[in-house]
Amino acid sequence: MNLDGYLKKFTKLRTGVSRGQVKPHKPVMLLAILSLIENKKITSNRIDYSPYLLELFKRLFDIVKSEQDALNPLLPFFYLRGDGFFHHRPFSEEAQSYKALSDPGSIKKFTRIVEYAYLDEELWAYLQDQGALNTLRDGLILSYFPKYKAQIEGIVKEEKEISGYETVLKSEPDKIKETKSTYRSTAFARIIREIYDYRCAACGLRLNLNGLVIIDAAHLIPFSESQDDDPRNGIALCKNHHWAMDKFLIVPGADNLWHVSSELDDRIEGCKEIITLNNRKILLPQDEKYYPKSESLAWRYTRILR
Ligand SMILES: [Zn+2]
Repeated sequence: MNLDGYLKKFTKLRTGVSRGQVKPHKPVMLLAILSLIENKKITSNRIDYSPYLLELFKRLFDIVKSEQDALNPLLPFFYLRGDGFFHHRPFSEEAQSYKALSDPGSIKKFTRIVEYAYLDEELWAYLQDQGALNTLRDGLILSYFPKYKAQIEGIVKEEKEISGYETVLKSEPDKIKETKSTYRSTAFARIIREIYDYRCAACGLRLNLNGLVIIDAAHLIPFSESQDDDPRNGIALCKNHHWAMDKFLIVPGADNLWHVSSELDDRIEGCKEIITLNNRKILLPQDEKYYPKSESLAWRYTRILR
């Protein structure tokens, strides 16, 4: 199929209609995928049902949704298969279960059966060209969301900036450039959550659903003091442990263990939960090059509440 053929398909998606309004889910999913390809978050013809995709889907969806539209990215990720260019790759042992699927079911069930989605090879090849990608994106925006053109283009531009900053932070953290603070903190948060695999480095809590992530990215030496967004000056924590670290009730040590302030009283039932963290291993990133820097750990350690 040529580019024009795909443009027609993109602008005539088989979307549902509710109360006279076209459901925005499918075009939003495609807009999110185009951005991830443009920003090299998707680098081969393999589209994972990833936190990056879900977070971006949510950002775009929040702009265009109407009152009756529920946030459910799994629906378009499933039903786009009916539009002739978007396909699923089931795990080899699940091929039969996939054939039997008439709806996606739960996220748990779907991701057990489907490994990833992919596009027509020809479409994938077109999307490597910025001009073709822009043509398809413009087609989506003008067909479905002309009212929100400026806002969507604003997000697309922001995503580009954030991704650019993420690349610098990951590969050359010493060369941190001046960036708008909102981009800066989003990029830092995304990287930290990703390298810690969306898991709290203290308790292991890990929960992300439809682009909602429970894990925060915390600076070891606060940014206000260090201006240091190097991922090795960061750690992923759940809300409770983030708060406790901010208050120096818990600190990660250079011995790769957690240390708990002796001010916490183990006779108080409610304190035990935090005290049991003492001397437990920090749940570090898989990639050693992102382990926390010793000077960042030392900064925390000397400030533990005594
Ligand atoms: Zn935690």
